[in-house]
Amino acid sequence: MNLLQVLSTMWMAGGVWFNMAVKEYIHVDTVQEAIRRISDTSREYQLIAGGAGIAQQRKDGFLNCDVLVDISRVKELTRIEKVSLNDMAHLKIGSGTSMSQAASDEWVERDFPLLADVLRTCCDPARRNAYTFGGRLATRTPLGMLFPALCVLKAQVLVQKDEKQTMLPILDWMGPEVLEEPYLITAILIPYGPKPVHALLEVKRRSYPGEIVAGVLAAVNDAQSKIAENVQIFASVDKYGLVSFAEIAEALNGKMMTSDLIQATQERTKKQLEKAWDETEDAQYRKNVLTALVSRCLNQIFYR
Ligand SMILES: Cc1cc2nc3c(=O)[nH]c(=O)nc-3n(C[C@H](O)[C@H](O)[C@H](O)COP(=O)(O)OP(=O)(O)OC[C@H]3O[C@@H](n4cnc5c(N)ncnc54)[C@H](O)[C@@H]3O)c2cc1C
Repeated sequence: MNLLQVLSTMWMAGGVWFNMAVKEYIHVDTVQEAIRRISDTSREYQLIAGGAGIAQQRKDGFLNCDVLVDISRVKELTRIEKVSLNDMAHLKIGSGTSMSQAASDEWVERDFPLLADVLRTCCDPARRNAYTFGGRLATRTPLGMLFPALCVLKAQVLVQKDEKQTMLPILDWMGPEVLEEPYLITAILIPYGPKPVHALLEVKRRSYPGEIVAGVLAAVNDAQSKIAENVQIFASVDKYGLVSFAEIAEALNGKMMTSDLIQATQERTKKQLEKAWDETEDAQYRKNVLTALVSRCLNQIFYR
């Protein structure tokens, strides 16, 4: 094998060497260049950022494209900055930022400790270093507590498609696909506001530390007065994804959080989940876990 052949089958993305048969691999330095590439309909392009998901696709035999476009060197995509949007301050986290980079960013740590906590525990260190926000958002794999945290923080996803930039609330992003590929996720925007008081409880898998079976995140604006304000409850379940308890949360707003009300909430949670998923033992177990965790989170917030 000559040097040219070696180079055509070996390449690096996000600090990881890959050895595979790709028709073509290129790297781009700007957002414009990435957009120009993926908008070219004459060939099939696939973006690669941290490379962890792409490596898995390749392993499973699902990687099928003409050109891999490496966006890991686009500086603009790895920036974390404060921006003003509609006269409101936001933290803008570039889509190429890895989970560990964001977790140790001073603004994330100081202004969004909930997000920093979740990023630190979302998966093992190797994956935290590789996974980027763009990769996690694009694959929509709702494992771990990142998506519930982004929901509580009312994050918006910034996407560039052709010349057009679109901003989508995270819940819409996680719903049925709203944008047709190809597109480039450029950043996630988190509005500054009151720091929520939160409780996060998870049941973790014994065999894969860091991976959760089910977890619940509940948040309120203030727990001192015992009056529920801006209650938000989201969950993540390994087999079934993101769960929103919006109606239950809404029913609690403005109420005094007594232990009777928390007990009644447990019943409402059970009812909401009754018809969810299927009747298997696995599903039933996860419904019971979520039901218990929702009321425990509320207890923890108000009666810690
Ligand atoms: C606990 C846990 C376990 C997981 N296990 C697995 C697993 O086993 N296998 C697996 O595949 N995933 C798994 N995931 C999902 C994981 O979220 C993604 O695979 C990973 O985040 C990809 O990140 P990456 O930066 O390495 O993306 P890449 O591998 O670079 O890309 C993944 C996909 O996202 C697209 N993409 C990347 N960046 C952008 C962008 N800015 N705009 C648009 N599209 C983009 C790529 O084109 C590609 O289709 C797991 C997640 C968690 C939390």
